[in-house]
Amino acid sequence: MAYPTAVRTHFTAMSASASPLWRVLSTGRRVPAVPARHGPLVVAPFATAVESPTAQDVNPAQILRNVRPKLLIDGDFVDAASGKTFPVLDPRTEDVIAQVAEADAADVDRAVGAARRAFDSGPWRKMSGRQRGRVLSRLADLLEERAEEFARIETLDNGKPLALSRGFDIPFVVSHFRYFAGWADKISGKTLQTNSNTFAYTLHEAVGVAAAIIPWNLPLLMMALKAAPALACGCTVVLKVAEQTPMSALLFGELALEAGVPPGVFNILPGYGPTAGAALVAHPGVDKVSFTGSTEVGREIMRGAADGVKHVSLELGGKSAAIVCPGVDLESVVEEAHDALFMNQGQACAAGSRTFVHESLYDEFVERAVERAQRATVGDPFGDVQLGPLVDSAQLEKVLGYMREGAAQAGAGYLCLVAEYSYLIYRLNGSLIGVATQGAVVRCGGSRIGSKGYYVEPTVFSDVRDEMSIAKEEIFGPVQSIMKWSSVEEVLDRANASPYGLGAGVWTKDLDLANRISRGLRVGTVWVNCYNQFDDAAPFGGYKMSGFGRDMSEYALQNFTEVKAVVTPLQDPAWI
Ligand code: NDP
Repeated sequence: MAYPTAVRTHFTAMSASASPLWRVLSTGRRVPAVPARHGPLVVAPFATAVESPTAQDVNPAQILRNVRPKLLIDGDFVDAASGKTFPVLDPRTEDVIAQVAEADAADVDRAVGAARRAFDSGPWRKMSGRQRGRVLSRLADLLEERAEEFARIETLDNGKPLALSRGFDIPFVVSHFRYFAGWADKISGKTLQTNSNTFAYTLHEAVGVAAAIIPWNLPLLMMALKAAPALACGCTVVLKVAEQTPMSALLFGELALEAGVPPGVFNILPGYGPTAGAALVAHPGVDKVSFTGSTEVGREIMRGAADGVKHVSLELGGKSAAIVCPGVDLESVVEEAHDALFMNQGQACAAGSRTFVHESLYDEFVERAVERAQRATVGDPFGDVQLGPLVDSAQLEKVLGYMREGAAQAGAGYLCLVAEYSYLIYRLNGSLIGVATQGAVVRCGGSRIGSKGYYVEPTVFSDVRDEMSIAKEEIFGPVQSIMKWSSVEEVLDRANASPYGLGAGVWTKDLDLANRISRGLRVGTVWVNCYNQFDDAAPFGGYKMSGFGRDMSEYALQNFTEVKAVVTPLQDPAWI
């Protein structure tokens, strides 16, 4: 996805003392002296945190003025039974911006009880699909009217650039509710051609109480991917929002009531996974669990749902390949491969985090990708920037850990100086290339920016090998790993060697190659000559350890419906 706003670059002329390289050297570790023949350590400029001119205008209390930081149960905003609350932080400043009611098992019981009653005896399931569709359309309209307020809440809570909240997250939620409002009166079964004297047909019926457990990276959009199809099908919903980002969904709960969603049909529980989330999965009143998040927690969800033999759909992690073929226009492809990874600070399950570049283009691609990453602006997400902070300190530590990780191995032709985890890599002619991790070369970035807020530098590794952790594991941060390939068979094998299978991109002018690679990849989505092109009508989900079931599109209706066969005898023999 192209960034929706014009890009303004914030170059700062960098000296060695301001570079991340300097930060490696200034950690107090024992570092061999740099041979004098290399001269002063001057590396290319890096993106830096910028003081946004609008940042001073951001008033969290004002942005959150309409959000009630409570649980939404049976149409009322209530405190947790325990009276407990938890703090929500501003990722820009690490300041507490709200204390939110913390749900646990007792609250889960209340919310599921309300959803169960609303499903079993309330009007929602029994009203016509057209009526449900009208309510969902109204809800989309109400959200659209307040889109700017929601965009600002999302940016404050998550740290994503306001341009992204305005141009992607919130409009997508609006369109997703409209899309499923349209489906609500078109959910029907089939008339069956039987082999007996019977008249048989199928009904597609609401599955019941749906538990939705969502992550923090696209908070309101993840809510929409679960709630819009569930509500369209006539299910009732208990939503467990991520503890980092509960605010936009809570305000959305107000809109749902205003739009005419009956009490008990849409319930919201802020709280923690191991307490509220696990209790929700295990609750006997829940019929279906729809989850997005890490593969590790996805396994927990399956275990928790097993006793009750509940329906489960999982959208999990990814390590998606972005494959650049020979003969493409490098200028646009470098840009698209950059967006494929760096959008949302790299905190996206489908992020194109393994950039496979054909050997004929590799060196030029790397140079351009590095130049592009260095131009990326990082700073206050309310300003005109491309990357804001990561969501929280845990994510920051995880991403920095990957940047540092591994035992460095020198590539032939390089002179390396060890600094604990990292090597400084020089060409034999003495010019500095970068910092090495596990034998890969950090071409730019690699460090935290500042000491307040969860900002990190856009980072590009070249010379990455498949066995390195940065090439295998989901980093979920702004770290691009660029690898070289030679033959189509080889790149398909390597792309498919990942245990994940969520998404992939391929850039080529050769239609046969596009078809061959699209069919050869074991992933849920292949973008050809584009990346991150999401659409309400296109299914999204994974193969292998990226999960099962599909969000979005007509296929999402299968997550929230049961199929019932109805068979009656025919008095006259069937003639067809
Ligand atoms: P998690 O998978 O831990 O969390 C996702 C959701 O599940 C949150 O609401 C979380 O609650 C909840 N949860 C956690 N444990 C349980 C449990 N035992 N039972 C039920 N629900 C539970 O993701 P994180 O936020 O911790 O992120 C960790 C990593 O996961 C990231 O670095 C990234 O690699 C990956 N991830 C993948 C995403 C994707 O879209 N595929 C999205 C987000 C993360 P809580 O509020 O306590 O976190």
